[in-house]
Amino acid sequence: MRAEVPLLFGPDALTRGDADRYHLHKLQTTLRYAADNSSFYRELFQKTGIAPEDIRALADIEKLPLTNPEEIAASPFRFLCLSRSEIARTHNFVTSGTTGPKKKIFCTQNDLEKIVRFLAAGIATVAGRGDVVNVQLPVGLPYGQSDLLSRGVKKIGAKPIIVPMDISSKDHLRLIKKYRATVIFGFTRRMLRLTKELESFCDLSALGVHTLFLTGEYLPSNVRADLQKTWNCRVSTHYGLTEMGLGVAVECGAGDGYHFNEAGLIVEIVDPENGRPVAPGDEGELVFTTLTREAMPLIRYRTGDISHLILEPCSCGAKALVKFAAVKKRIGAITPLAGGEELYPSLIDDVLMNMPGFIDWQAVIKRQDEREILHFHVELIEPDSGKIPEIRKCLLAVSALAKSIQAGAMAEPVIEIASLGELHGTGTRKRLIGRQDVFLRK
Ligand SMILES: [Zn+2]
Repeated sequence: MRAEVPLLFGPDALTRGDADRYHLHKLQTTLRYAADNSSFYRELFQKTGIAPEDIRALADIEKLPLTNPEEIAASPFRFLCLSRSEIARTHNFVTSGTTGPKKKIFCTQNDLEKIVRFLAAGIATVAGRGDVVNVQLPVGLPYGQSDLLSRGVKKIGAKPIIVPMDISSKDHLRLIKKYRATVIFGFTRRMLRLTKELESFCDLSALGVHTLFLTGEYLPSNVRADLQKTWNCRVSTHYGLTEMGLGVAVECGAGDGYHFNEAGLIVEIVDPENGRPVAPGDEGELVFTTLTREAMPLIRYRTGDISHLILEPCSCGAKALVKFAAVKKRIGAITPLAGGEELYPSLIDDVLMNMPGFIDWQAVIKRQDEREILHFHVELIEPDSGKIPEIRKCLLAVSALAKSIQAGAMAEPVIEIASLGELHGTGTRKRLIGRQDVFLRK
């Protein structure tokens, strides 16, 4: 990567000061553009008494109001800075599991080309000319997710092979062998399923895959180590967000957090309660401002994802770049328990994903008598109810559950073993711990 990115490495590399000056200039330009062309931002700035000219230093960004996902869902066209005829592609999607608001993100042809360029730069961190990249993302219209990434793959001289989302693991294996895939890009949970379903009869380390490039959800470090060993390959992860142009950030060779698209985005971490910036390095909500978008710039957009900035210089040597930590929880996916504890999916992934034979899980919290109860559905490579005590032990290692049970606010979890393949379709959505019978609660 070093040789290809002279701007970031070597004696003439950019400094943080260079990056900050660039960000301020692009921010000022973006604010003026949004105020002139988007009715949403024009009214928001008027209402809050702030003008683009009030932003004279990068730190002034905190004077600007935050943009909420609900506001895009409510009136997407008020964000549009051009006529509708200039929209080349609209991405329609729900990000927060099945309960979040439906959003529209508009792109011009230029916006799409920039997305492809960033995706190409991202894939170039793990692949190069001659590589064969399996792309397992939702397949849709031209410039949909899998098409955008495929175009990025082609841009670096590699060959994309689109893998349908509903394919079985055995059929995916056939595609890997047929096209001699060297990189597999896909959702974390789907890659885990692929690995578990194939490893008993196939030596995955002998397939010639040199990188698994994972997206969508948190990857516990012990599971990463397992995948690396099983496939005898590198495992890298990607942080994406449709609102920010799908590709946002990738791990560098040093691992441990993400460098992001600083040419196109400013990152901030704010306190989700009051929207104010947190102290440097503290945990809070990731907020992005787009700097180059034509159709629909977003200013201080709340992602709902919790992370923190990593302030130490990265050991990869890219001194000018900021890093943020892997996202372990999302605001919309935190389930408050009756006893005051908080439960979110990565707490369960941390204790369970590494269990031998484990494939996937689903959970719902119900109200039974005066207590809450976790109904837990788990898919194993061999559906064996004899594993239930081991699963129970894993779940009780989640302190939010153990404390709630000890305090009497929660009953012991009910564990059911799903049949093989039963949870197959769930691996592409961000995980939520659902609630049922919630209407019975006071
Ligand atoms: Zn780095």
